[in-house]
Amino acid sequence: MRFKPNYAPGPTEVRENVRLARTKRTNNTDFDREFVHYYHEVCQKMGQIMGTKNDVLLLAGEGILALEAACASLTEPGDRVLVLDNGIYGEGFKDFVSIYGGEPVVLSFDHHKGIPVEEVREYLKMDHDFKYATFVHCDTPTSVLNAATELSPLLKEYGILTVVDSVAGMVGEPIAVDQNQIDICCGGTQKAISAPVGLAIVSISEDAKKAMDNRKTPITSFYANLQIFKGYAEKEYLPYTMPASDVEALDVALDNILEEGQEAVYKRHDKIASAVRKSVQAYGLTLFLESERSNTVTAIVIPEEIGALRLQEHISETYNLLIATSLAQYADVILRIGHMGENAFVDKVVFVLTIIDNGLRDLGFKGNGNLAQLFLDAYKEK
Ligand SMILES: *Cc1c(COP(=O)(O)O)cnc(C)c1O
Repeated sequence: MRFKPNYAPGPTEVRENVRLARTKRTNNTDFDREFVHYYHEVCQKMGQIMGTKNDVLLLAGEGILALEAACASLTEPGDRVLVLDNGIYGEGFKDFVSIYGGEPVVLSFDHHKGIPVEEVREYLKMDHDFKYATFVHCDTPTSVLNAATELSPLLKEYGILTVVDSVAGMVGEPIAVDQNQIDICCGGTQKAISAPVGLAIVSISEDAKKAMDNRKTPITSFYANLQIFKGYAEKEYLPYTMPASDVEALDVALDNILEEGQEAVYKRHDKIASAVRKSVQAYGLTLFLESERSNTVTAIVIPEEIGALRLQEHISETYNLLIATSLAQYADVILRIGHMGENAFVDKVVFVLTIIDNGLRDLGFKGNGNLAQLFLDAYKEK
């Protein structure tokens, strides 16, 4: 297969030292007890980066498995679950709740901004009989960033557990799991962590563990059952064969982050994202969001007469570059630039903006100036 550079909001570019880590010889993870300890250490390193002392597990599967496993493990038939929806993934949680027999109560908000915390507060005064609630940290298809700092503690006031999808948020945006009292925080390796696709990440609070222990009915899954890992470190035994190369790669990717420093990584994302947003607007395009924009991805509205899908196709064919449109009802409306993890560097953004600028001009759009130069000007100012 021919290689195509890609600037979608994940999977992101993987640094060479991470790619090389996958080529190392690995031990048999079923019989090598040392591997169990190594796995545990990488889980703890992941927890450090997520800001939690809670148990962290790496599941063999990509990010979606984390969301499904959280819902499978918490939901019992008839459980009411509050699904906070202001985006495609936000709404999508209702399906996982239903699959496992729960009753999702979907509270929908405008997709053009963050979940309004005050409206949730008012709603909870009337109805708070929920086992848990779900929301997305960064809902990637529209790039909205929700206030985990306020939402989880608010839900916790009512004893409602929280499941937060931070697959496209963590590392690019602070998530601070313990400080924000998030019960199950979900992640994936292929977004801002910039490791290959392959592992799902979950952190599990004591309250979430209690909820699983106190179930009256068994969890109706094996692979999505978080309890199969219970006591694995003491037993020195993992419930299924782990993709050891993925764990090695994640380990190195996490070291890259720690070496740069987490605050520096956040700053890098902020600086790049701010300059992208500024340049896109100066160029004459509109951002999809009114406010609460994530620093990991930018969603740009493509004029109807051009169409996001036609632009994507044109850029892929003419310039051999993969750029992302969006999902569902936004597929032909939004163009997304993923500037997270290894893709949040000036050279990469200049490259992708140059090609987008050319692609748009080829299709008849008249931008105000040179998009990449506008980006560099804004970047220098900040
Ligand atoms: C990428 C992503 C996931 C993982 O799912 P994919 O299969 O990669 O789409 C889950 N949640 C969010 C918000 C994501 O951006």
